[in-house]
This record gives sequence, structure tokens and C-alpha cells, in this order.
Amino acid sequence: MKLAADLHTHTVASGHAFSTVKEMAEAAAERGLKMIGVTDHGVNMPGGPHEYYFSQLLGLPRFVGGVEVLRGVEANIVDGAGNLDMPERYLSSLDLILAGFHEDCGYDPGSVEENTRAMIGAINNPYVHIITHPGNPSFPVDIEKVVLAAKRAGKVLEINNNSFSLSRPGSSPRCRTFTEMAKRHKTAVCVNSDAHIWHAVGQFDQALNLLEKARFPAELVLNTSLEKTKSYLSWVKNLLQKTS
Ligand SMILES: [Zn+2]
Ligand SMILES: [Zn+2]
Repeated sequence: MKLAADLHTHTVASGHAFSTVKEMAEAAAERGLKMIGVTDHGVNMPGGPHEYYFSQLLGLPRFVGGVEVLRGVEANIVDGAGNLDMPERYLSSLDLILAGFHEDCGYDPGSVEENTRAMIGAINNPYVHIITHPGNPSFPVDIEKVVLAAKRAGKVLEINNNSFSLSRPGSSPRCRTFTEMAKRHKTAVCVNSDAHIWHAVGQFDQALNLLEKARFPAELVLNTSLEKTKSYLSWVKNLLQKTS
């Protein structure tokens, strides 16, 4: 399976990452990608960007080194209802809204039921495009319930390549179950690097390996084509206009 976009990357603005937008985009170009999402952490991340950063992000060039750059955020889920740490004006002005659980960002891991409810709350947030690393064992959720909620809402769940590294140890079995459930219920996923340094951009090997082993259908993987990615982004936007 070949991917056209990496929709989850972090720059120096995240406070614990090492490369600039230019370095990330150039690395994406070298890997043959057509698009990246610049998705620094939401404002609750210790050492992360102030909200002013997201205003300035709107001035980012649309293309860097021939790679289309989406202006995004990986927002933090801050409570049991699945609310996020980003003011609505940014959720509505950015191109790409990722949301996920992170330690020390407002929501402490609860029971499986509590985590599941919070994650489903974020799935149902009309601004959210992708739920990041839902297989994180530090915030265990009821995988089938989450997959079904994503399917119902038409939202996308991430298979995060970085989860197979040191950053979220113990993720593999849960990511495998997510993959199997998503296949069974025909729910879309997105494979991302979650790169925190230029050379990790476009690194998808372990996540793709998991999908291949599960014989996961390529048509259910959002970022296999730019067309699919863009039409999903506009579908969410249209949905928002209808509901507001
Ligand atoms: Zn990070
Ligand atoms: Zn994350």
C-alpha cells in the first residue's frame, strides 16, 4: 500500500520536537509524499504552542518544496465529555483537526467506560477529522464501541506508526484489534507517522505492516490518495455548515 499524505507531524512549535515546517515538508517531498499535515499539539501540552501560534499558522504557504501543507492541530481531549483544548475560532479556521488523549493535558486516564465516552465525545465533535492513536494502552477504550461510533459519525481513526516505537509501549495488540474491528465494520482509518523530527516524516512501515497482515482494504485508508483526503476534508466542512 502506498500513501500520498502524512497527516500527523509535529514541528519545533510542539516544544518537544526538533524540525521546522520547511524541514518537514522537504523530507515529505524526498519520500514522495504530496501533502503533510502540520499538527502541533494543542495549547494544554506542557511546553506546547500558545494559541497565538495557531493564528500565525494561517499565514503558512500552501505549498512548501512542492508539498501541500495543511494547517492543523492535534488537540487534547480535556475532559470526560471529549471537549478539546482549542478555542472554536481555531477549530473552524484550521484545515485539519486531530484529537487525542495525552498525559498531563487535562484529562487523566479513567475507566474503560470513561475513556470510551470521552473519545466518542471527540469523534462526535463536528470539527474533528481524525482521532489520534486510539490504541494507546494508557487510555484504554472499548475498541468496538469506538469503531462503531466513528463509523456512525463518518469519522476516521488513526493507525499511528509512532505507537510502535518507544513513545506508547504496549500499543501493538490494541492497534491490531482496532485494525480488525475497522475492517469488520468498514470504518476508515488513516496511517500517519506522528513524526517529531524530519527523518520520521512518511515513516509508515510498522503501521502498514499491521494493515497488510490484517488484509485491510486500501479503499478504507484515507491517505492512500489526495483526492480521498481532500474530499473527506470538504465532507466534514459541509457537514459543519449544515449543522451550524
Ligand atoms: Zn508530541
Ligand atoms: Zn499524539
